Amino acid sequence: MRAAPGEFEIIREYFAGAPCGEGVVLGIGDDCALLQPPAGEQLATSVDTLVAGRHFPEGADPALVAGRALRVNLSDLAAMNARPLWFTLALTIPESDRTWLRGFADGLLQTARAYGISLVGGDTTRGPLTITVQVTGATAAPLRRDGARAGDAVFVSGPLGAAAAALPVILGERTVEPGCFQRAVSAYYAPEPQLQTAAALSGLASSALDISDGLLADLGHICAASNLDAELVMEDLPVDPLAVELAGSRALELAATGGDDYQLCFTVPPAMVDAVKERCAGGESAPVQIGTLVARTPGAQDRARVRCFLNGEEWQAARPGYRHF
Ligand code: ADP
Ligand code: MG
Repeated sequence: MRAAPGEFEIIREYFAGAPCGEGVVLGIGDDCALLQPPAGEQLATSVDTLVAGRHFPEGADPALVAGRALRVNLSDLAAMNARPLWFTLALTIPESDRTWLRGFADGLLQTARAYGISLVGGDTTRGPLTITVQVTGATAAPLRRDGARAGDAVFVSGPLGAAAAALPVILGERTVEPGCFQRAVSAYYAPEPQLQTAAALSGLASSALDISDGLLADLGHICAASNLDAELVMEDLPVDPLAVELAGSRALELAATGGDDYQLCFTVPPAMVDAVKERCAGGESAPVQIGTLVARTPGAQDRARVRCFLNGEEWQAARPGYRHF
């Protein structure tokens, strides 16, 4: 058996061979990467950390974990309508284990290739398993959170609730038949960053974000940034069939408050609604209108900004959404 690789062997053997695409003047190996920003576009950058035991189970398949780490970051680029260009990886591992590193690097670089993003640098340290990915993309038409207006339609890019419903399966708290297990694994570990949908919304949507902490919590951020309230029609929420299969009558609650689906929530001026549906037809997702933005009621400071109605009656979620602190 080969000895456990040291820091520089890890970088050389597992990460330095990553293929480099657009704008990479100098990739892994020097003190910094040198990157050429595309002319006339803005750079969009974002970072996310995944901690073992908090964002994924200790002992999880390293290829799946790597794929998820990159996908959740790509989702942030999608939410800004930015084209993926480059990423860095800060990897903290408890030990230098070839099998784990091979799985991790394969999962990471396979995902990177699929989305056309280049690994251009990173940092490798010893400690409790923690994965930090920082992504950079470019955009000529950013989708921000603060552009919404009263009367705009609220959309989601696709079905919700699957990842939250899958979580007990992923954590091993619940056993299901193999087909359902596979669907749970892909719902949780392989969310689809909505890059094409975002591109289709360019020039039409007034605001957007990706749903990582739950629809109600995340739509609340658009409302806060745009100083508006939202009213949602809960019977219009696209509930993922896997959520229904796994959670039955709790599926709607999970679709409203469960995180980790990484669909987009976006707003559209009424005059643009038909154009959005047309442009998205036949694409990676079929966006659904779930409500409307309304002017903030004066003196409503303490009331939730997002109000939900089910069959005409006000509907309240049992829990608002995920928060670390
Ligand atoms: P420095 O000592 O200047 O911080 P390092 O020795 O940490 O440099 O890294 C050497 C090179 O390898 C740098 O180009 C760095 O970006 C890259 N690198 C280190 N760790 C990783 C990793 N996990 N993935 C990709 N590139 C990495
Ligand atoms: Mg370093």
